[in-house]
Amino acid sequence: MSVIKSFCRGSSSAVVLGELICEKLKTSIIDAANNKTAIDLACQMRCNFPAFSGNRLDLEKHMLKSLAEEEDFDGFITYIRNPRSQTEAFIKAEVQKYIFMDHKDEAVNMFKKNVDDINTLVRSALSTATQKVKTQWGDTEMWLKEFSSLLKDELTFDPICSQNFSDIKDFEFLKKEIEKVFTSITEQMSRISLDKLKESRQKPDEILIDQLCNCCWETCPFCSAVCTNTMKDHSPDDHSTPFHRCSGIKGWHYRHTVEFSINFCTTNVASDCRFYPHRDSEETFPYKLYKTAGPPYANWRITPDGSKLAYWKWFVCRFQNKLEEYYNLKFQGRGEIPDQWETISKHEAIKSLDEMCK
Ligand SMILES: [Zn+2]
Ligand SMILES: [Zn+2]
Repeated sequence: MSVIKSFCRGSSSAVVLGELICEKLKTSIIDAANNKTAIDLACQMRCNFPAFSGNRLDLEKHMLKSLAEEEDFDGFITYIRNPRSQTEAFIKAEVQKYIFMDHKDEAVNMFKKNVDDINTLVRSALSTATQKVKTQWGDTEMWLKEFSSLLKDELTFDPICSQNFSDIKDFEFLKKEIEKVFTSITEQMSRISLDKLKESRQKPDEILIDQLCNCCWETCPFCSAVCTNTMKDHSPDDHSTPFHRCSGIKGWHYRHTVEFSINFCTTNVASDCRFYPHRDSEETFPYKLYKTAGPPYANWRITPDGSKLAYWKWFVCRFQNKLEEYYNLKFQGRGEIPDQWETISKHEAIKSLDEMCK
């Protein structure tokens, strides 16, 4: 009689333990599959998605292309004032579109495959732990230890106290109980929505932002073009970019007038003109000796040349009124827009961005 009682007690413990394990497995499998999918998707975009698979200038080119296509003035202003924030917003938007629209089915399949892989691992851990305990006459503590250790690289779940289940003797029964509950959980998981990915600890857009934005973000004090150095801190090397813009984009103008400055930095630094380094400064400095104005000018290397990206000429013409309104200045007098700039089409402007990646 006492033997039968003890057997019954053991099997009800096995049922309870089985349910407890399955409950913990369910959350941690979804969590692990989500993280794995987030990493896989970020990796896939780094390899195949043109904006993220090239170098830093490539990313900037794609972002500028998208701003021009959408003719998004607010986006441009954010980009001019805080390029990193606009770049992050661009990455987030592109990732969202890639995963939840353009490659939705692929992302769902990737998630399901990751769930399947972990499920296979769990089933194999179940068999191995049960087999070991049976052959070595082990107890519940040994079974739990073995089972968790086989899964520790893939899944994390809180340890289960074996004391409450020490009366379990039939581990084959425990295994079958877990398999029974686990099968119905697996079915539920296969119907899970991709939205769960948004709750994952690791997110594809954050992974990509970490990888792509870990570089220098200093901007040219004249035109606010971003330094293209891929190192975050590259002192003592000066900041530099092969593509400057006309300084009116940053609000530069002739003092005591409302006339924008429409010269490109690369032209200015070759001229005999002078500039006030700060809004309140009394002293002017020659552009040719801009470094003598101290930081941030001293930390930039601006090579004099005649390069003028058609893109920024188009931008000034397209948003002339908005820029005038935004800065409370005018494209008039010395800041008058040359007629040639007006002839540049949006298509030509976008095409000129390719010069950035040569
Ligand atoms: Zn510049
Ligand atoms: Zn830099």
